[in-house]
Amino acid sequence: MKQIFADLHIHIGRTESNLPVKITAARDMTFHRIVQEASNRKGISMIGIIDAHSPAVQAEIEAGIMNGTYMEHPYGGILYCNTLCILGVEVECKEAHTGPYHMLAYFPTLAKIKEFTAWIAQHMKNVQLSTQRLYQPVSSFIKKVKDLQGLVVPAHIFTPFKSLYGSATTSIEDLLDITSLDAVELGLSADTTMADQISELASLPFLTNSDAHSLPKIGREYNKFLLEEANFQELSYVLKQKQGRKILANFGLNPFLGKYYETFCSTCKQQKTSSTIFCSTCGKKKEVTGVKDRIAMIADQPTTSPTFRPPYIHQIPLAFLPKVGPKTITKLIEHFGSEMNILHHASLQEISEITNTQLANLICQARENTLAVQKGGGGTYGKIISLLPIQQ
Ligand SMILES: [Zn+2]
Ligand SMILES: [Zn+2]
Repeated sequence: MKQIFADLHIHIGRTESNLPVKITAARDMTFHRIVQEASNRKGISMIGIIDAHSPAVQAEIEAGIMNGTYMEHPYGGILYCNTLCILGVEVECKEAHTGPYHMLAYFPTLAKIKEFTAWIAQHMKNVQLSTQRLYQPVSSFIKKVKDLQGLVVPAHIFTPFKSLYGSATTSIEDLLDITSLDAVELGLSADTTMADQISELASLPFLTNSDAHSLPKIGREYNKFLLEEANFQELSYVLKQKQGRKILANFGLNPFLGKYYETFCSTCKQQKTSSTIFCSTCGKKKEVTGVKDRIAMIADQPTTSPTFRPPYIHQIPLAFLPKVGPKTITKLIEHFGSEMNILHHASLQEISEITNTQLANLICQARENTLAVQKGGGGTYGKIISLLPIQQ
Protein backbone atom coordinates (compact mmCIF):
# COMPACT_ATOMS: atom_id res chain seq x y z
CA MET A 1 0.00 0.00 0.00
CA LYS A 2 1.07 3.60 -0.33
CA GLN A 3 0.67 6.96 1.34
CA ILE A 4 -0.87 9.86 -0.55
CA PHE A 5 -2.04 13.40 0.16
CA ALA A 6 -5.68 14.30 -0.51
CA ASP A 7 -7.55 17.62 -0.47
CA LEU A 8 -11.23 16.98 -1.06
CA HIS A 9 -12.84 20.43 -1.12
CA ILE A 10 -11.77 22.67 -4.01
CA HIS A 11 -14.10 25.07 -5.82
CA ILE A 12 -14.32 26.00 -9.49
CA GLY A 13 -14.49 29.75 -10.24
CA ARG A 14 -15.24 29.73 -13.95
CA THR A 15 -15.51 27.39 -16.90
CA GLU A 16 -13.01 27.64 -19.78
CA SER A 17 -15.69 29.61 -21.64
CA ASN A 18 -15.82 32.05 -18.69
CA LEU A 19 -19.22 31.05 -17.31
CA PRO A 20 -19.34 31.71 -13.56
CA VAL A 21 -19.58 28.65 -11.28
CA LYS A 22 -18.50 29.85 -7.81
CA ILE A 23 -18.80 33.61 -8.04
CA THR A 24 -16.57 34.24 -4.99
CA ALA A 25 -13.79 31.99 -6.33
CA ALA A 26 -10.92 33.18 -8.54
CA ARG A 27 -11.54 33.36 -12.30
CA ASP A 28 -8.53 31.18 -13.05
CA MET A 29 -9.98 28.31 -10.99
CA THR A 30 -11.05 26.22 -13.98
CA PHE A 31 -11.23 22.44 -13.78
CA HIS A 32 -8.09 22.08 -15.86
CA ARG A 33 -6.01 24.68 -13.98
CA ILE A 34 -6.93 23.02 -10.68
CA VAL A 35 -5.86 19.52 -11.72
CA GLN A 36 -2.65 20.97 -13.20
CA GLU A 37 -1.87 22.96 -10.05
CA ALA A 38 -2.51 19.96 -7.79
CA SER A 39 -0.43 17.68 -9.95
CA ASN A 40 2.50 19.98 -10.82
CA ARG A 41 2.95 22.31 -7.88
CA LYS A 42 1.22 20.93 -4.84
CA GLY A 43 2.10 17.25 -4.85
CA ILE A 44 -1.46 16.22 -4.06
CA SER A 45 -2.47 12.89 -5.56
CA MET A 46 -6.20 13.05 -4.84
CA ILE A 47 -8.36 16.14 -5.11
CA GLY A 48 -12.08 16.57 -4.61
CA ILE A 49 -13.54 19.06 -7.04
CA ILE A 50 -16.69 20.45 -5.57
CA ASP A 51 -18.83 22.04 -8.32
CA ALA A 52 -18.45 19.06 -10.66
CA HIS A 53 -22.28 18.99 -10.57
CA SER A 54 -22.35 22.01 -12.88
CA PRO A 55 -23.41 20.91 -16.40
CA ALA A 56 -20.85 23.19 -18.11
CA VAL A 57 -18.04 21.70 -16.00
CA GLN A 58 -19.25 18.20 -16.82
CA ALA A 59 -19.14 19.08 -20.53
CA GLU A 60 -15.49 20.17 -20.12
CA ILE A 61 -14.54 16.94 -18.36
CA GLU A 62 -16.33 14.92 -21.04
CA ALA A 63 -14.46 16.79 -23.79
CA GLY A 64 -11.16 16.16 -21.93
CA ILE A 65 -11.90 12.43 -21.74
CA MET A 66 -12.74 12.36 -25.45
CA ASN A 67 -9.47 14.05 -26.47
CA GLY A 68 -7.36 11.93 -24.10
CA THR A 69 -6.39 14.66 -21.58
CA TYR A 70 -8.26 12.88 -18.79
CA MET A 71 -9.17 9.27 -18.22
CA GLU A 72 -11.99 7.79 -16.19
CA HIS A 73 -10.46 5.44 -13.64
CA PRO A 74 -12.11 1.98 -13.73
CA TYR A 75 -12.59 2.18 -9.93
CA GLY A 76 -13.90 5.73 -9.99
CA GLY A 77 -12.54 9.24 -10.40
CA ILE A 78 -10.94 11.20 -13.24
CA LEU A 79 -7.22 10.79 -13.83
CA TYR A 80 -4.94 13.59 -15.03
CA CYS A 81 -1.21 12.70 -15.00
CA ASN A 82 -0.59 11.45 -11.45
CA THR A 83 -3.56 13.21 -9.90
CA LEU A 84 -6.95 11.64 -9.39
CA CYS A 85 -9.95 13.94 -9.26
CA ILE A 86 -12.99 12.92 -7.25
CA LEU A 87 -16.17 14.48 -8.61
CA GLY A 88 -18.11 16.27 -5.89
CA VAL A 89 -20.75 18.83 -5.06
CA GLU A 90 -21.54 21.20 -2.20
CA VAL A 91 -25.19 22.04 -1.55
CA GLU A 92 -26.90 24.24 0.99
CA CYS A 93 -29.56 22.44 2.99
CA LYS A 94 -32.07 23.97 5.38
CA GLU A 95 -34.92 22.48 7.35
CA ALA A 96 -37.93 24.52 8.49
CA HIS A 97 -36.54 24.87 12.03
CA THR A 98 -32.84 25.36 11.22
CA GLY A 99 -30.50 27.83 9.62
CA PRO A 100 -28.75 26.91 6.35
CA TYR A 101 -25.84 24.44 6.36
CA HIS A 102 -23.50 23.00 3.75
CA MET A 103 -23.23 19.34 2.76
CA LEU A 104 -20.67 17.71 0.47
CA ALA A 105 -21.19 14.63 -1.68
CA TYR A 106 -18.76 12.66 -3.87
CA PHE A 107 -19.61 10.34 -6.74
CA PRO A 108 -17.71 7.47 -8.36
CA THR A 109 -18.27 8.39 -12.01
CA LEU A 110 -19.23 11.22 -14.33
CA ALA A 111 -22.40 9.30 -15.22
CA LYS A 112 -23.45 9.12 -11.54
CA ILE A 113 -22.87 12.82 -10.85
CA LYS A 114 -24.79 13.66 -14.02
CA GLU A 115 -27.72 11.67 -12.66
CA PHE A 116 -27.40 13.61 -9.44
CA THR A 117 -27.40 16.90 -11.38
CA ALA A 118 -30.59 15.88 -13.15
CA TRP A 119 -32.23 15.41 -9.74
CA ILE A 120 -31.00 18.58 -8.01
CA ALA A 121 -31.83 20.66 -11.11
CA GLN A 122 -35.50 20.13 -10.24
CA HIS A 123 -34.97 21.38 -6.69
CA MET A 124 -32.75 24.44 -6.98
CA LYS A 125 -32.82 27.76 -8.80
CA ASN A 126 -29.59 27.59 -10.81
CA VAL A 127 -27.82 24.25 -11.09
CA GLN A 128 -24.93 25.88 -12.99
CA LEU A 129 -23.74 27.63 -9.79
CA SER A 130 -21.90 26.39 -6.71
CA THR A 131 -23.37 25.73 -3.26
CA GLN A 132 -26.98 26.54 -4.13
CA ARG A 133 -29.90 26.00 -1.76
CA LEU A 134 -31.47 22.58 -2.25
CA TYR A 135 -35.21 22.77 -1.63
CA GLN A 136 -35.48 19.22 -0.31
CA PRO A 137 -35.15 17.72 3.17
CA VAL A 138 -31.63 16.55 4.00
CA SER A 139 -32.91 12.96 4.26
CA SER A 140 -33.84 13.07 0.54
CA PHE A 141 -30.41 14.47 -0.33
CA ILE A 142 -28.65 11.67 1.56
CA LYS A 143 -30.89 9.00 0.05
CA LYS A 144 -30.23 10.27 -3.47
CA VAL A 145 -26.44 10.33 -2.95
CA LYS A 146 -26.48 6.81 -1.47
CA ASP A 147 -28.66 5.47 -4.31
CA LEU A 148 -25.91 6.67 -6.66
CA GLN A 149 -23.15 4.96 -4.57
CA GLY A 150 -21.92 8.36 -3.41
CA LEU A 151 -20.34 9.54 -0.14
CA VAL A 152 -21.89 12.15 2.18
CA VAL A 153 -19.77 14.52 4.25
CA PRO A 154 -21.11 17.60 6.10
CA ALA A 155 -18.86 20.57 5.25
CA HIS A 156 -16.85 22.71 7.71
CA ILE A 157 -19.18 21.60 10.51
CA PHE A 158 -18.45 24.35 13.06
CA THR A 159 -18.32 27.55 10.99
CA PRO A 160 -20.92 30.18 11.84
CA PHE A 161 -23.79 30.85 9.34
CA LYS A 162 -23.42 27.86 7.05
CA SER A 163 -22.75 24.63 8.91
CA LEU A 164 -24.47 21.86 10.88
CA TYR A 165 -23.18 22.87 14.32
CA GLY A 166 -22.68 26.55 13.44
CA SER A 167 -26.19 27.38 12.27
CA ALA A 168 -28.45 24.35 12.32
CA THR A 169 -28.24 22.18 15.43
CA THR A 170 -26.44 21.30 18.65
CA SER A 171 -26.77 17.60 17.80
CA ILE A 172 -26.40 16.09 14.33
CA GLU A 173 -28.39 13.04 15.46
CA ASP A 174 -31.43 15.26 16.01
CA LEU A 175 -31.33 16.31 12.37
CA LEU A 176 -30.31 13.27 10.35
CA ASP A 177 -29.23 9.64 10.56
CA ILE A 178 -25.61 10.03 11.64
CA THR A 179 -24.76 6.48 10.51
CA SER A 180 -25.49 7.56 6.92
CA LEU A 181 -22.52 9.97 6.99
CA ASP A 182 -19.14 8.85 5.67
CA ALA A 183 -17.06 11.51 7.48
CA VAL A 184 -17.28 15.10 8.69
CA GLU A 185 -15.10 17.98 7.52
CA LEU A 186 -13.62 19.97 10.40
CA GLY A 187 -13.11 23.35 8.73
CA LEU A 188 -10.16 25.71 9.10
CA SER A 189 -10.89 26.93 12.62
CA ALA A 190 -11.16 23.54 14.35
CA ASP A 191 -8.92 20.56 14.98
CA THR A 192 -9.27 17.03 16.31
CA THR A 193 -8.70 17.98 19.95
CA MET A 194 -11.61 20.41 19.72
CA ALA A 195 -13.97 18.15 17.74
CA ASP A 196 -13.39 15.10 19.96
CA GLN A 197 -15.20 16.97 22.75
CA ILE A 198 -18.46 15.98 21.03
CA SER A 199 -19.33 12.35 21.73
CA GLU A 200 -21.66 11.79 18.75
CA LEU A 201 -18.68 12.28 16.38
CA ALA A 202 -16.76 9.34 17.86
CA SER A 203 -17.63 6.91 15.08
CA LEU A 204 -16.89 9.30 12.19
CA PRO A 205 -13.60 9.98 10.43
CA PHE A 206 -12.47 13.62 10.29
CA LEU A 207 -11.43 15.22 7.01
CA THR A 208 -9.28 18.33 6.71
CA ASN A 209 -9.70 20.06 3.35
CA SER A 210 -8.77 23.47 1.99
CA ASP A 211 -12.17 24.77 0.72
CA ALA A 212 -9.90 26.61 -1.74
CA HIS A 213 -11.40 29.52 -3.68
CA SER A 214 -8.04 30.33 -5.34
CA LEU A 215 -5.16 28.24 -6.70
CA PRO A 216 -2.58 29.12 -4.02
CA LYS A 217 -4.97 27.94 -1.29
CA ILE A 218 -5.20 24.38 -2.63
CA GLY A 219 -3.67 22.13 -0.01
CA ARG A 220 -3.71 24.60 2.90
CA GLU A 221 -5.40 21.67 4.67
CA TYR A 222 -5.23 18.06 3.51
CA ASN A 223 -5.29 14.44 4.60
CA LYS A 224 -2.70 11.69 4.39
CA PHE A 225 -4.29 8.39 3.33
CA LEU A 226 -2.97 4.84 3.31
CA LEU A 227 -4.41 3.02 0.31
CA GLU A 228 -3.62 0.74 -2.61
CA GLU A 229 -4.07 3.37 -5.32
CA ALA A 230 -5.82 6.72 -5.72
CA ASN A 231 -9.37 5.96 -6.90
CA PHE A 232 -12.93 6.43 -5.65
CA GLN A 233 -13.34 2.89 -4.34
CA GLU A 234 -10.14 3.18 -2.32
CA LEU A 235 -11.36 6.51 -0.90
CA SER A 236 -14.52 4.80 0.34
CA TYR A 237 -12.35 2.03 1.86
CA VAL A 238 -10.21 4.65 3.61
CA LEU A 239 -13.28 6.24 5.21
CA LYS A 240 -14.64 2.84 6.26
CA GLN A 241 -11.19 1.60 7.34
CA LYS A 242 -11.68 -1.42 5.14
CA GLN A 243 -8.86 -3.94 4.55
CA GLY A 244 -6.19 -1.83 6.26
CA ARG A 245 -6.95 1.39 4.38
CA LYS A 246 -7.09 4.41 6.65
CA ILE A 247 -6.45 8.08 7.27
CA LEU A 248 -2.88 8.29 8.55
CA ALA A 249 -2.94 11.98 9.52
CA ASN A 250 -4.86 15.21 9.19
CA PHE A 251 -2.79 18.23 8.25
CA GLY A 252 -4.59 21.41 9.14
CA LEU A 253 -4.07 25.05 9.77
CA ASN A 254 -3.35 26.00 13.30
CA PRO A 255 -7.04 26.75 14.24
CA PHE A 256 -5.95 30.19 15.51
CA LEU A 257 -5.32 31.12 11.86
CA GLY A 258 -8.86 30.22 10.75
CA LYS A 259 -11.38 32.95 9.93
CA TYR A 260 -13.83 31.99 12.64
CA TYR A 261 -11.79 30.86 15.63
CA GLU A 262 -12.70 33.66 18.03
CA THR A 263 -16.14 35.14 18.59
CA PHE A 264 -16.35 38.51 16.91
CA CYS A 265 -18.70 41.45 17.37
CA SER A 266 -20.14 42.38 13.98
CA THR A 267 -21.10 45.87 15.21
CA CYS A 268 -17.79 47.19 16.49
CA LYS A 269 -15.58 44.69 14.59
CA GLN A 270 -13.73 43.64 17.72
CA GLN A 271 -12.85 40.21 18.95
CA LYS A 272 -14.82 39.42 22.07
CA THR A 273 -12.91 38.51 25.16
CA SER A 274 -15.83 37.53 27.42
CA SER A 275 -18.19 34.65 26.81
CA THR A 276 -21.40 36.64 27.50
CA ILE A 277 -23.73 37.19 24.56
CA PHE A 278 -23.15 40.95 24.70
CA CYS A 279 -20.06 42.52 23.19
CA SER A 280 -17.67 43.59 25.94
CA THR A 281 -16.65 46.65 23.88
CA CYS A 282 -19.86 48.13 22.46
CA GLY A 283 -22.50 46.27 24.51
CA LYS A 284 -24.47 45.15 21.42
CA LYS A 285 -25.63 41.58 20.94
CA LYS A 286 -24.78 41.11 17.24
CA GLU A 287 -21.92 38.71 17.16
CA VAL A 288 -20.35 35.97 15.11
CA THR A 289 -19.84 33.07 17.47
CA GLY A 290 -16.35 31.72 17.02
CA VAL A 291 -15.69 28.02 16.62
CA LYS A 292 -13.90 27.91 19.99
CA ASP A 293 -16.96 29.24 21.86
CA ARG A 294 -19.44 27.23 19.78
CA ILE A 295 -17.64 23.98 20.62
CA ALA A 296 -17.51 24.98 24.30
CA MET A 297 -21.32 25.39 24.11
CA ILE A 298 -22.09 22.01 22.55
CA ALA A 299 -19.24 19.87 23.98
CA ASP A 300 -20.46 16.98 26.13
CA GLN A 301 -17.14 15.40 27.14
CA PRO A 302 -13.50 16.26 27.70
CA THR A 303 -11.43 15.51 24.56
CA THR A 304 -11.76 11.74 24.04
CA SER A 305 -10.39 10.43 20.76
CA PRO A 306 -11.40 7.00 19.50
CA THR A 307 -8.46 4.65 18.96
CA PHE A 308 -8.66 4.93 15.16
CA ARG A 309 -8.32 8.74 15.24
CA PRO A 310 -5.07 9.71 13.46
CA PRO A 311 -2.81 12.53 14.65
CA TYR A 312 -3.72 16.07 13.67
CA ILE A 313 -0.67 17.96 12.52
CA HIS A 314 -0.82 21.74 12.64
CA GLN A 315 0.82 23.36 9.66
CA ILE A 316 1.34 26.81 8.30
CA PRO A 317 1.25 27.03 4.49
CA LEU A 318 3.99 29.07 2.79
CA ALA A 319 1.53 31.83 1.84
CA PHE A 320 0.86 32.52 5.56
CA LEU A 321 4.52 33.17 6.34
CA PRO A 322 5.44 36.85 6.63
CA LYS A 323 7.44 38.30 3.71
CA VAL A 324 7.06 35.15 1.61
CA GLY A 325 5.62 36.32 -1.70
CA PRO A 326 4.52 34.38 -4.79
CA LYS A 327 7.97 34.76 -6.42
CA THR A 328 9.75 33.06 -3.52
CA ILE A 329 7.09 30.35 -3.41
CA THR A 330 7.51 29.67 -7.14
CA LYS A 331 11.30 29.53 -6.77
CA LEU A 332 11.03 27.05 -3.91
CA ILE A 333 8.48 24.89 -5.74
CA GLU A 334 10.62 24.84 -8.87
CA HIS A 335 13.49 23.50 -6.80
CA PHE A 336 11.72 21.11 -4.42
CA GLY A 337 8.94 19.96 -6.74
CA SER A 338 5.97 20.73 -4.53
CA GLU A 339 4.78 22.71 -1.51
CA MET A 340 4.41 19.43 0.43
CA ASN A 341 8.12 18.75 0.00
CA ILE A 342 9.06 22.22 1.24
CA LEU A 343 6.75 22.20 4.25
CA HIS A 344 7.54 18.69 5.40
CA HIS A 345 10.70 17.23 3.87
CA ALA A 346 13.28 19.77 2.69
CA SER A 347 16.14 20.32 5.12
CA LEU A 348 16.95 23.71 6.62
CA GLN A 349 20.26 23.65 4.80
CA GLU A 350 18.64 23.02 1.42
CA ILE A 351 16.03 25.77 1.89
CA SER A 352 18.60 28.34 2.97
CA GLU A 353 20.73 27.55 -0.06
CA ILE A 354 17.79 28.32 -2.37
CA THR A 355 16.54 31.42 -0.50
CA ASN A 356 18.03 32.58 2.81
CA THR A 357 18.58 31.42 6.37
CA GLN A 358 15.83 33.63 7.75
CA LEU A 359 13.21 31.97 5.56
CA ALA A 360 14.60 28.51 6.28
CA ASN A 361 14.24 29.24 10.00
CA LEU A 362 10.68 30.48 9.48
CA ILE A 363 9.72 27.26 7.74
CA CYS A 364 11.38 25.30 10.50
CA GLN A 365 9.50 27.26 13.18
CA ALA A 366 6.28 26.73 11.24
CA ARG A 367 6.98 22.97 11.30
CA GLU A 368 7.60 23.10 15.04
CA ASN A 369 4.56 25.32 15.61
CA THR A 370 6.58 27.93 17.50
CA LEU A 371 5.49 31.02 15.53
CA ALA A 372 3.36 33.59 17.37
CA VAL A 373 -0.15 33.87 15.96
CA GLN A 374 -2.83 36.57 16.16
CA LYS A 375 -6.13 34.67 16.30
CA GLY A 376 -8.69 34.99 13.52
CA GLY A 377 -12.41 35.75 13.94
CA GLY A 378 -15.50 37.26 12.30
CA GLY A 379 -14.35 36.34 8.79
CA THR A 380 -10.74 37.56 9.07
CA TYR A 381 -7.89 35.06 9.02
CA GLY A 382 -5.46 34.96 11.89
CA LYS A 383 -1.89 35.88 11.07
CA ILE A 384 1.69 35.35 12.11
CA ILE A 385 2.50 38.49 14.09
CA SER A 386 5.95 38.19 15.52
CA LEU A 387 8.85 35.85 15.35
CA LEU A 388 10.62 34.17 18.16
CA PRO A 389 14.38 34.72 18.15
CA ILE A 390 15.81 32.76 15.27
CA GLN A 391 17.78 29.77 16.46
CA GLN A 392 21.19 29.36 14.93
ZN1 LIG B 1 -19.36 25.68 2.40
ZN1 LIG C 1 -16.97 25.17 -0.09
